[in-house]
Amino acid sequence: MSENFLSTLNESQQKASQHIDGPLLILAGAGSGKTKTITTRLAYLISIGIDPASILTLTFTNKAAAEMRERAFKLINPNLINTPPLLCTFHKFGLLFLKMHMHELNRKNNFIIIDTDDKKRIIKNIDKDLTTALVVNEISKFKNNIFSVEDIKDAAQSKLDKQIADVYEKYEIYLLKNNLVDFDDLLLLPYLILKQNDELSKVISQKYLYIMVDEYQDTNELQYKLLQKLCCSHNNLCVVGDDDQSIYGWRGATIKNILNFTEHYENVVVVKLEENYRSTDTILDHANQLIEHNRDRLGKSLRGTRFKGDSVKLYESHDENEETRKLVNDIRKLLIAGESASDIAILFRVNALSRSLEEGFNKAGIPYKLIGGMKFYERAEIKDLIAYFRIITNPNDNFSFKRIVNKPKRGIGKTTLDKLEAKSIETKIPIFNLIESYEDDELITIVGKKNTKTLKTFVESISKLRDVMEDSKIVFLDAFEDTFDYRSSYDSVPDGEDRKANIDEFSGYIRDYFKQNPHLNLEDFLNEISLESEQDKMFNESISMMSIHASKGLEYKHLFCIGLEEGFFPIIGDGSNIEEERRLGYVAFTRAMDNLTLSFVHSRFYKGKRTSLTKSRFLSESGLIKGSLKIERTSAFRNGDVVVHKIFGMGRVEKSSRAGKEYKLTINFGGSKRDILSSFVEKK
Ligand code: ATP
Ligand code: MG
Repeated sequence: MSENFLSTLNESQQKASQHIDGPLLILAGAGSGKTKTITTRLAYLISIGIDPASILTLTFTNKAAAEMRERAFKLINPNLINTPPLLCTFHKFGLLFLKMHMHELNRKNNFIIIDTDDKKRIIKNIDKDLTTALVVNEISKFKNNIFSVEDIKDAAQSKLDKQIADVYEKYEIYLLKNNLVDFDDLLLLPYLILKQNDELSKVISQKYLYIMVDEYQDTNELQYKLLQKLCCSHNNLCVVGDDDQSIYGWRGATIKNILNFTEHYENVVVVKLEENYRSTDTILDHANQLIEHNRDRLGKSLRGTRFKGDSVKLYESHDENEETRKLVNDIRKLLIAGESASDIAILFRVNALSRSLEEGFNKAGIPYKLIGGMKFYERAEIKDLIAYFRIITNPNDNFSFKRIVNKPKRGIGKTTLDKLEAKSIETKIPIFNLIESYEDDELITIVGKKNTKTLKTFVESISKLRDVMEDSKIVFLDAFEDTFDYRSSYDSVPDGEDRKANIDEFSGYIRDYFKQNPHLNLEDFLNEISLESEQDKMFNESISMMSIHASKGLEYKHLFCIGLEEGFFPIIGDGSNIEEERRLGYVAFTRAMDNLTLSFVHSRFYKGKRTSLTKSRFLSESGLIKGSLKIERTSAFRNGDVVVHKIFGMGRVEKSSRAGKEYKLTINFGGSKRDILSSFVEKK
């Protein structure tokens, strides 16, 4: 292996991947080789003798990280790597960082990562009146904007604000007491540690001398600031991204990070890539037509390099069942023709649409994996198992203890648990240790005789298992089932078979993990899986189904996208943003390499009722169907025309210019001028 891997790159890509010192920005459209360029740069840096351990590459999803690793490692001479370079998600990096430096916050590093479901339960316990989902989001926003509890309490004006601030405070206290961290903490706490310790920031930035970030358009304020700390002593930061693919605005990502990169850092080298190597010209042309309807964009040029290709296929179906049947047929044909299942994917904007797909593909016997969306580790039976394992590795974990002490049923009720928890808070002794160390008599005064016996037995079993685990992880797994009859507790439960199948899947997975990583322990396993948001390790040859969000950075030879109906894609109202929806459309279309099929239905069963639907505006905007009446009607705007807008009311057109299939208008609404697309107004 030599540097001739550079020869597979075009000139600009080569220039970028051979860039060594100083900030570098690659701002370019979909499929232009941004990810290829930085994975090659990783290999290049190593090939010229730079220590792999000093290179840090960050991205957003586990799947993207895995693919980048695969691409990069193919190019690297294995003799050059003692320590492999760290290439992972932001959250994984945060976790590794906290394992090393949590003590800076006077906290132990045996913390537990909670998921959204845990977070909801904690918040619900703190305040039953507020809408849990709202508070979950608010707290996430606070953390991503680096607002402490004090900041939020000071700023609270309304009664609702104060109530939320109060929950935030109690939630943080609860996390601290149980040594839990949520997903946002994985980014926030490293930042807070670095912020309060300049010396450590320097040390860390000297450890990672070359930092690269893929999909930079989706970073938020917190990630921006964290990166600044990480590269504070050298500014060797290379970021790549595409403003047209920014799809996490709703989660606080700010496109400003990429647009202002040249202002945030001095002497930035900017590289543009203008050729798309992924999609056929036809696919690219429709994707470009669609995104041209967005006003808020830089407007980059992107040319195809492949061939014209087949036309984009459009499926019109009566309902979701017919839609699934068509996809099943097509995909079956592709598989029979010898196409690989891993080259096929189905995307949807709304997660709930996966249900009918799953049903249809199960029936048809076509293996699929569902990436993101419904999470394997969020199923109750798996979460219980995980809680068992957590309490085995960490007796301080009251949170997990409460979850499983009565699973399977042992007659321990909520009142008993409340009493134990109160005692645990009073004495600052974790519930587990409290039961273990208290004499029977003492415990009886708290929870009664019968419960004392049950709890003592339970705690002893856990301690025994802990000893077994020290000896052998595999023996431990067998002993676990023998001790608790956990799996068999699902014997006569409705959907018990499904649950047992999940448990078996999980047991197989964990055994395999220990076989492959004999030096790692149960705690490592638990940390690893709390970051995994997909079950793709569980199956091999299968087609992929995922939300468009989860498909970022990926590519498939044959791509299907369902649900192109107004309301489903784009989602309308409820804080949705049409330009961000359109960027999602652009992301979806540009995942396709050879074939793209789009599908819409006349009605869907959703949220308990059947709803009639009209096809998505994106179909006409991308030039796939003749413009709808609305667009044809609006295509003749002239200066001086009087128009009506739903929100701004009546106005007069002062300027008009073509934007894709429609017009960009400058309209004077009673003195205030706004730029509006013609499909949003009607002529008077
Ligand atoms: P996205 O914006 O979707 O993340 P990207 O800009 O990161 O896309 P890549 O995934 O790196 O693009 O590349 C898209 C495809 O084009 C890949 O299959 C890659 O191997 C191929 N490719 C990139 N550059 C070249 C090149 N110079 N010659 C041939 N193929 C290339
Ligand atoms: Mg990419």
